[in-house]
Amino acid sequence: LSADDQAVLDRIDEEDIDFLRLQFTDILGVVKNVSIPAHQAEKALTEGIYFDGSSIEGFVRIQESDMRLIPDPETFAVLPWRNDGDGGAARLVCDIVDTDGEPFIGGPRQVLKSVLAEAEEMGYSVSIGPEPEFFLFEKDDEGNATTIPHDNGGYFDLAPKDLASDVRKEIIFTLEKMGFEIEASHHEVAEGQHEINFKYDDALSTADNIVTFRAVVRAVAEQHDLHATFMPKPIAEINGSGMHTHISLFDEDGNNAFADDADEFNLSETAYQFMGGLLNHAPAFTAVTNPTVNSYKRLVPGYEAPIYVAWSDTNRSALIRVPDAAGVSARFEVRSPDPSCNPYLALATLIASGLDGIKNDADPGDPVREDIYEFDEQKREEYGIETLPPNLGRAVEALEDDDVVLDALGPHTAEKFPEAKNQEFSEYLTQVSQWEEDRYLETF
Ligand code: GLN
Ligand code: MG
Ligand code: MG
Ligand code: MG
Repeated sequence: LSADDQAVLDRIDEEDIDFLRLQFTDILGVVKNVSIPAHQAEKALTEGIYFDGSSIEGFVRIQESDMRLIPDPETFAVLPWRNDGDGGAARLVCDIVDTDGEPFIGGPRQVLKSVLAEAEEMGYSVSIGPEPEFFLFEKDDEGNATTIPHDNGGYFDLAPKDLASDVRKEIIFTLEKMGFEIEASHHEVAEGQHEINFKYDDALSTADNIVTFRAVVRAVAEQHDLHATFMPKPIAEINGSGMHTHISLFDEDGNNAFADDADEFNLSETAYQFMGGLLNHAPAFTAVTNPTVNSYKRLVPGYEAPIYVAWSDTNRSALIRVPDAAGVSARFEVRSPDPSCNPYLALATLIASGLDGIKNDADPGDPVREDIYEFDEQKREEYGIETLPPNLGRAVEALEDDDVVLDALGPHTAEKFPEAKNQEFSEYLTQVSQWEEDRYLETF
């Protein structure tokens, strides 16, 4: 038993844990759990726990379904909302191995690990700070989610307009109990919309944290009889929910490889190259960072979400914004991702795009200082600014044309992900919406 494994067993004892939830995500980023009694912990840590991989979206076929979950001991966390006196529950995030005992290349966590290994070979570790947004909605009498906002606050409002501040406080306390360092939280622009920022961390820990964050927000909302959603655009014509993603690279000496105080924006050559890579591969990674039909209803002009493939130090209509930060904090913010993404796959494709920029000395061009929402087509052409894909179908097409981003997903996911998303998009195209009924039923 390794020291880390022993530490888990000790915590199980100290915290009086009866059940362990072994957690992983499917290709869509949906959390899956296998629950085991605590006395199985040693076996789980040393041998892993078998499960049927064929029943998980995007994994394997029936004939190769015996997969194993191998818990990562560093991810042990007590689930505070399940710890009510008579025996609590804790979770462990797991890696997946196939029948041969090899890391399963289709596991989203493994996909991210592979990209991070490549970064490491190039001499970098990657730090990510996410800003997930979400809505809190009322439930109806039957307990079903509605789209009625829980409060009518707005940006940075305080109680009593911001009724949710109690819920938000409890979410924060719960996250802190699970080891999160919370930097800030506030009411977002839309009614019922919130943002909680937690501290940046290495990319793998951040992806784990995003998954945990979504689970905590939902669980605490549920206890208040509310429905929390990370759906990107739950209500038309109102700000959607994004997940701005701050990225920086650190070199082997622990220095921020994006920092150069002599530069106008405090950014190094490496930072510009990375940004150039992001801009080059943006249409393709959008299929992964914005993976639902609904994601594209957020990426429209006028709601603080980006649509244009450009960078800026001042305006928020661009895909990438360079915050006013220098030295260790030098970084940029990718503004397109939304919280419905699979964070492992999303970070893998963002990082691989940037690394490709470094390898190929990509040029991000000049910053755009004007509000691009106001540009007409001619002006956009003049500035050479492209737009993000307008819908999921087009995004998947861009993904299928981009070998760098496909490579980042690995052979398994590069096949399964577009397949699943093409199917989702075709299904959507054949639906008849309320909008169509309202517009056409009585007119024709
Ligand atoms: N909600 C906006 C989005 O969709 C972001 C708003 C903000 O954080 N300023 O990205
Ligand atoms: Mg923010
Ligand atoms: Mg925000
Ligand atoms: Mg932001």
